[in-house]
Amino acid sequence: MLGDLVNIVSRFVHHSPIDYLVEMGRPTLCLLAIYGSQGLLTIGYIMLLSQVGERVAASMRKSLFDALIRQDIAFFDATRTGHLVSRLTADVQEFKSSFKLVISQGLRSATQIVGCITSLYVISPKLTAAMITVMTALVSSGALIGSFLRDLSRQSQQQIARATGVADESLMNVRTVRAFAMENVESESYACEVNKACRINEKLGTGIAIFQGLSNVVLNCIVLGTIFAGGSLIVHEELSAGDLMSFLVASQTVQRSMANLSVLFGQVVRGLSAGSRVFEFMDLTPTIPVQGGIKIPFHSLLGHVQFHNVSFSYPTRPSDVVLQDLNLTLPPCRVVALVGLSGGGKSTVAALLERFYNPTQGVITLDGKDLRTLDPAWLRSSVISLIDQEPMLFSTTIIENIRFGKPGATDQEVCAVAKVANADDFIRGFPDGYQTIVGERGIALSGGQKQRLAIARALLKDPTILIMDEATSALDAQAEKAVQTALDQAARGRTVLLIAHRLSTIVNADIIYVLVNGKIHEVGTHAELLKKQGLYAELIHWQNMQHK
Ligand code: ADP
Repeated sequence: MLGDLVNIVSRFVHHSPIDYLVEMGRPTLCLLAIYGSQGLLTIGYIMLLSQVGERVAASMRKSLFDALIRQDIAFFDATRTGHLVSRLTADVQEFKSSFKLVISQGLRSATQIVGCITSLYVISPKLTAAMITVMTALVSSGALIGSFLRDLSRQSQQQIARATGVADESLMNVRTVRAFAMENVESESYACEVNKACRINEKLGTGIAIFQGLSNVVLNCIVLGTIFAGGSLIVHEELSAGDLMSFLVASQTVQRSMANLSVLFGQVVRGLSAGSRVFEFMDLTPTIPVQGGIKIPFHSLLGHVQFHNVSFSYPTRPSDVVLQDLNLTLPPCRVVALVGLSGGGKSTVAALLERFYNPTQGVITLDGKDLRTLDPAWLRSSVISLIDQEPMLFSTTIIENIRFGKPGATDQEVCAVAKVANADDFIRGFPDGYQTIVGERGIALSGGQKQRLAIARALLKDPTILIMDEATSALDAQAEKAVQTALDQAARGRTVLLIAHRLSTIVNADIIYVLVNGKIHEVGTHAELLKKQGLYAELIHWQNMQHK
């Protein structure tokens, strides 16, 4: 149609303006209508595409998070959290952009290439043949230079990631950096990585500049060549001026679309690899499902736990046997303490009881039933409470942090357990009381206070079995006493497994197991073990010496 308009223009060069307007009217209006509907369709397709793209991304994020949060603890031992978060953010984003681009640009460029080449052929088969020959040669040499540039760009991305890694580590460990006065060294090592990235990027910039410059010259030469060759066809009356104009416009569109497609190709590769990284985790099935299995009716639940010849190695270090042929009993409503040197496997016993891992050999039973047959969700939400060494709190209010133990609990229930956990007084001491925000933007709690909140949280589900992994970091005498009182109150009427990293807390335990290198070394009460004059007596003696 553009060609038709040009033909009319060239015919009317020496005619009256009125006739010109009459002749031009129809094709101009027609073209305007086409442009208008193109505009409307563009609005429609971009809106539709963004809706589809956003929904795909949102559902990918939700499914990925669902899959991640249900993975085995062993999976988290082996994978860095930062890595997982970047899959949720960067990889989904990359996949979404590629998806949108492929549909919009890819589809458009492909149809434009096919459509325009058809109309080129209709206008002039001869010119089209010449054009395709020249273009094929140019696209192949362009692809060659392009692959060189892509390689440089990959190198640059890797180098930037390396620099970011250095910055990340230094900033995360800023206390250690400061304590060793290593600011200059860290700055230098970051600068060194950044400089390398800078040099690669400069090289890439030069490459792109040469590529752009060359392609500009080539593309302009193609226009010139087309006019030259087309002109000679016009001289031989094989082509009109309008046709030549149409040919030029259409061939420019083909060139633009081809350039678009080549850029798109890189994006598709990146999008596909981002997508495959996301789907890889979505398709992982955990070996220990988070729910499903038998539940023991509440009225017949005693809380009698036994470890029968349990051996265990962490999946990340299969050759390192952490527990070996362990036999251990937690009688109902008794306090059992595990003591021993650090690294002996005490916390591992707690992790197995929570069923974070399955034993490599042997069986753990609850009231005679194999733990593997019981519903893990039931076990964790209403039977066992674990108070961790370093309790983690969420950056929300104190009341919500405690309520994490039992989502439907009333405010009264929360206050009641806080009292048992010896936490009510200090919580009420804050200006906002139970509504105080903890963590990042709120009040920073002391180690002892955190422990007591964790005890309250653990008690809220009224567990039959309580596991207390004692804090390794020392509390001061007063805080330790407050935590101890909380624990003594919390322990009443429950089966308690106390993992003692210090010995002062376990004097009153009903049974004490001394664990050395994953094996039971001694068993007995405090008095019995002292009398035995074995390792336990030695540890107590050692500790008393330190306190003097
Ligand atoms: P304790 O509580 O007695 O100090 P742990 O049960 O924490 O001992 O650790 C026992 C052994 O298991 C140690 O050698 C420790 O390095 C190893 N270990 C602990 N947790 C993990 C883990 N998540 N992945 C691999 N090895 C671990």
